[in-house]
Amino acid sequence: MPGPSFLSELVGSFSQGAAGNPTVAMIEAAFRHHGLDWRYINCEVPPEKLGDAVKGARAMGWRGFNCSIPHKVEVIQHLDGLGESAAIMGAVNCAVNRDGRFIGENTDGKGFLKSLQEVTDPRGQSIVLFGAGGAARAIAVELALAGAVAITIVNRDKARGETLAKLINDKTKAKASYAPWTKAWRIPESASIAVNATSIGLEDGSAALDIDTSSLRKGLVVADVIVNPPRTRLMRDAEAAGATPIDGLGMLVNQGVISTKYWTGIDADPNVMRKEVARVLGL
Ligand code: NDP
Repeated sequence: MPGPSFLSELVGSFSQGAAGNPTVAMIEAAFRHHGLDWRYINCEVPPEKLGDAVKGARAMGWRGFNCSIPHKVEVIQHLDGLGESAAIMGAVNCAVNRDGRFIGENTDGKGFLKSLQEVTDPRGQSIVLFGAGGAARAIAVELALAGAVAITIVNRDKARGETLAKLINDKTKAKASYAPWTKAWRIPESASIAVNATSIGLEDGSAALDIDTSSLRKGLVVADVIVNPPRTRLMRDAEAAGATPIDGLGMLVNQGVISTKYWTGIDADPNVMRKEVARVLGL
């Protein structure tokens, strides 16, 4: 009979500002809960060391890794292939070791989509998306691939907003347009889902999007990407107006569930992960 194995399977994360990233606590809670002898190693990696970090992961037989700021685009040159949505976005936040090849996926947008789908199916719906940065790009691409018909991108910076609209129009079947973010922006009646993918609200529960809150209404689904604090001003305003709020914790947790599935093949329990994130962030 073989003796016990003291060799764990390894995954992890490469980013800068790694100390502020709670993902390790969330993923390891899932590993413990499901009895997996896996470890998630959270690593601080500067841009000039990213190639060496990926080589190290290969040398040590890591089963995959997350990439966060500032590596989501640059990591692609060190990988062996890309999944569909990651190829469209040109950004990877999760590499998966498939038969010795590191394939880049993007679970940010997929995590958002899963969280949204618990409440509504975006297929056939018109969506207003605030923001045009990395999170907005991931969300817009997944919404388009999931069958959203129209996406209005509202962003402060015109060039970034137009670039994202063009990406969606060129690479997916959805119709996207850019709308300048004018004062007290009104969410049109034609939209059934509104998403904040800007960083407004991050670490500031009172920060408000410049929108006309009377355009929040019953029947509208309002989603936020902000994790901390999860009850943003937008979430509170949406609730007060009778709209359906979806907070950013769901996106983070589901992104972890999807990454864990890619690496281990198991369906991790999102409640265990959500509870642990809330605990470590003191929510
Ligand atoms: P980026 O820096 O790429 O983009 C930031 C976006 O926010 C831009 O569209 C920017 O507009 C907009 N913005 C910032 N400040 C303001 C302001 N005062 N008024 C109007 N618009 C503003 O960041 P990311 O896209 O990577 O991240 C955005 C947020 O998403 C972060 O808070 C991040 O924590 C969160 N996030 C959450 C995840 C989750 O799992 N819940 C996963 C990934 C990200 P402009 O172009 O005009 O500058």
